Amino acid sequence: MTLSYSNETNGAWRTYLEQIDRVAPYLSHLSNYIDTLKRPKRALIVDVPIVMDDGTIQHFEGYRVQHNLSRGPGKGGIRFHPDVELNEVMALSAWMTIKTAVVNLPFGGAKGGVRVDPRKLSTRELERLTRRYTSEISSIIGPQKDIPAPDVGTNANIMAWMMDTYSTTEGHTITGVVTGKPVNLGGSLGRVKATGRGVYITGRHVAQKIGLDIPGARVAVQGFGNVGSEAALLFVEANAKVTHVQDHSGSIANAEGIDVVALIDYLKTHDGVAGFTGATAIDNEQFWEADIDILIPAALEGQITVERAEKLKARLVLEGANGPTYPDADDMLNKRGITIVPDVICNAGGVTVSYFEWVQDMASYFWSEEEINERLDKLLTKAMDDVWQSAAQHDCTLRTAAYILACERILIARSERGIFPG
Ligand code: NAD
Repeated sequence: MTLSYSNETNGAWRTYLEQIDRVAPYLSHLSNYIDTLKRPKRALIVDVPIVMDDGTIQHFEGYRVQHNLSRGPGKGGIRFHPDVELNEVMALSAWMTIKTAVVNLPFGGAKGGVRVDPRKLSTRELERLTRRYTSEISSIIGPQKDIPAPDVGTNANIMAWMMDTYSTTEGHTITGVVTGKPVNLGGSLGRVKATGRGVYITGRHVAQKIGLDIPGARVAVQGFGNVGSEAALLFVEANAKVTHVQDHSGSIANAEGIDVVALIDYLKTHDGVAGFTGATAIDNEQFWEADIDILIPAALEGQITVERAEKLKARLVLEGANGPTYPDADDMLNKRGITIVPDVICNAGGVTVSYFEWVQDMASYFWSEEEINERLDKLLTKAMDDVWQSAAQHDCTLRTAAYILACERILIARSERGIFPG
């Protein structure tokens, strides 16, 4: 198998490689090991054939990439989306390596996915797809090896099927093989909302540092799924106004503030935000020119292009999504004095509570939601503060500072372990 290490691609993997190149000059002697971060440790491509409800057989392509395991088992979500491809999964797995290290969790980075539009499958077809995919990757996952979780297009039910399939193969129940499970099956309280909560916690911290008041702040959210909707709710609870929302169905605006609770309710019976009567429909490009203070990209990667960065009016960008900003757009935002809280810390709330879930599963002892939220707040605030201090020390952006912290931790682990066989 030939992987695209050639750096010729323009996708998410290329964005990641550029981010690593930017941090290398800060790593002194550790930069000897930097190539270890420029390739995945292991990448598995699997064929996932399933019998459809109409009796036909369809084949889907699936992946599980373990980017780096120097600091512990792999950790990272499973994406079901029609655009999933190897380069994207490689980048997402690499961002998990950086993310777990920034927050100092004892994990490496991994990611998986299947190229499929889950909305086009029946529930039975989705279950068959999930179980067959799990079976195909079961040789490389496990509670001590690599622990999947939900991502775009997957959820707690899918994690339950993954856990059941893996446990059935192993002959006993192994709850710790995945996180983001239903609470009945060893899932953690607070996990579903954790990523959005983390966006709020890190955003609140940095807003205070740059003198931006949350009460009254105008917030735009792209992607109103798990991450975007929860972050929006918490900002509204803190008296900010969500004035713009965009998802796959279109963009809506209301200068007085969108009723986020009503919008969440609306989405229970509608496929997207389009048609919501509590706001006006706007053109998708207008979303990027809106008069706002805070932008939360919480959809997919590669959304903030240099053209959009030139027009953006926000003072603060909170990267709920993974890799939403292209490197040249990153430069443009920095040049324009717009502060970015990078994905690797901004959306780390999910993996942090996944870590709590894994610990609880290992101990078979479960914590209250209050305890989980408190621990999440403490851990993320500390990590955000470390990143802020590192940025001040190196006179660099928060993204570079986060990468410096993470890469140091990963590469120190690598150098202390040495290169087998020595
Ligand atoms: P989700 O499937 O719940 O929601 C995705 C949202 O993005 C939906 O509102 C969808 O309509 C919107 N969207 C899809 N394509 C779009 C497009 N072309 N333009 C505008 N909007 C579009 O997914 P999620 O779990 O909320 O994840 C969102 C992002 O956050 C992803 O980048 C994911 O990798 C990242 N993330 C998720 C978690 C988690 O715990 N769920 C953790 C860390 C990072």
